Amino acid sequence: MAEKMLQFVRLQQRQPDKRDAGERSADWGEVYQAFAQEAAGAQASRCSQCGVPFCQVHCPLNNNIPDWLKLTAEGRLEEAYEVASATNTFPEICGRVCPQDRLCEGNCVIEKGFESVTIGAVEKFITDTAWEKGWVKPPMPVRERHQSIGIIGAGPAGMAAAERLRTMGYQVTLYDRHDRAGGLMIYGIPNFKLEKEVVVRRWQQYVMGGIQFRLNTSVGRDITLGELRQKHDAVLIATGVYKARDIACPGADLPGVVAALDYLIASNRKGLGDDVPEFENGALNAEGKHVVVVGGGDTAMDCVRTAVRQGAASVTCLYRRDKANMPGSMREVKNADEEGVRFEWLAAPEAFTGTDRVEGVRAQRMHLGLPDATGRQQVEPIANAGFALKADLVIKALGFDPEDLPAAFNEPALPVTRWGTLKVDHRTMMTALPGVFAAGDIVRGASLVVWGIRDGRDAAEQIHGFIQARGETPAIAAE
Ligand SMILES: Cc1cc2nc3c(=O)[nH]c(=O)nc-3n(C[C@H](O)[C@H](O)[C@H](O)COP(=O)(O)OP(=O)(O)OC[C@H]3O[C@@H](n4cnc5c(N)ncnc54)[C@H](O)[C@@H]3O)c2cc1C
Repeated sequence: MAEKMLQFVRLQQRQPDKRDAGERSADWGEVYQAFAQEAAGAQASRCSQCGVPFCQVHCPLNNNIPDWLKLTAEGRLEEAYEVASATNTFPEICGRVCPQDRLCEGNCVIEKGFESVTIGAVEKFITDTAWEKGWVKPPMPVRERHQSIGIIGAGPAGMAAAERLRTMGYQVTLYDRHDRAGGLMIYGIPNFKLEKEVVVRRWQQYVMGGIQFRLNTSVGRDITLGELRQKHDAVLIATGVYKARDIACPGADLPGVVAALDYLIASNRKGLGDDVPEFENGALNAEGKHVVVVGGGDTAMDCVRTAVRQGAASVTCLYRRDKANMPGSMREVKNADEEGVRFEWLAAPEAFTGTDRVEGVRAQRMHLGLPDATGRQQVEPIANAGFALKADLVIKALGFDPEDLPAAFNEPALPVTRWGTLKVDHRTMMTALPGVFAAGDIVRGASLVVWGIRDGRDAAEQIHGFIQARGETPAIAAE
């Protein structure tokens, strides 16, 4: 039934039902249930169709949100999907994992007083319906072009660029060191936020659309950047950031103190049905253990909630600032809290204790002092305010930095910033090496899926412009 818009005055915000904490902690399924069509239409009709759509302005993809909300309210779902997918390569994934509270929904004009339109849930509904109905098609070039593009990294940035370039008719090969495409969408983000099937079906469509995947191929080890430049007319580097930030405190090297991504990759692999010796032998398995996770971002929240599902005896999150200053999404903090995670705010590890392996954490109480030059309050220890926690597994989730890519690729001419991210001309997205472009976290630093998609799409446009500008230069044929 077609709904009139502006219904926020009479209709309350309703998110899709969330599975009960006890039920969802016992399995790996997604937390939120799907909207039924009627509920999606009704919630979409709450949009005020405001003159300046701040949701769109604050979306990294500038998604035309008011239009697809209106189409959903009118029951015109195929058109809603057309509009949603015109600017977004993976709307069903953004609907699941974007921090909407900080982006579109956080900037909805009815947010103040009426609570925002449930944009993410409607986006997920539209695209899941499109998959069900068969409206989602593989990239289909109108004409083939003989030039080829090599993309290093099959995460959201590399996959989004591949889809755009293939649609334009280029011969596209994606190289990834992992055995599956998807990057952190497969091996970082846990199943309870993003079911793996949702990523795999996109990958399968790209294979159907003629995109070549060279998996288990680590660039720098199995093939050099120089070889890729010889082989392809342009190369895009979209390798993400993976070097875990460490903690310099006594006991940090003890067995049982592990890096967040090692832990999450093992868990995701296990869920995908792989043999994971580190999981089987208990090194990366929280079952029956007292787990302490250090950090307060989304990765930390993913670790604590994974540990709950693995059957940990207790799960504690240590974060040196307070709840209000947590970098992670408040929605995920709330979910973790409901699932039984204990939070120790304003607390930092002083030492990891134990002889042959970790047995505990000695922590220090902190307080927030004066702001520094960036305006953020400094964290300072409170004297004589330590406490101890029992821990059989400590997971360090303190963020990620880029690997040393010029060294890994043996390409000293690849310039990096002082943070180690790749330096590009921000207008053309090209590095100092002609024909070598870069996009996603490796340029931006650890960020979000939606920014990866945006950068990948932009890079595709720039690569197309670069190849077109070369005009008649003979291209190297794809293999
Ligand atoms: C635990 C965790 C949870 C997250 N949760 C969210 C969330 O809920 N919402 C959100 O929006 N964002 C989230 N993020 C961030 C988001 O996943 C990243 O910002 C995004 O995936 C970056 O995309 P990318 O394509 O730049 O890199 P990646 O996704 O990291 O992909 C890079 C790819 O490059 C490959 N690669 C690297 N080096 C080489 C090489 N030498 N040769 C070949 N291949 C190589 C890697 O194997 C990988 O597949 C999360 C991140 C983590 C770690």
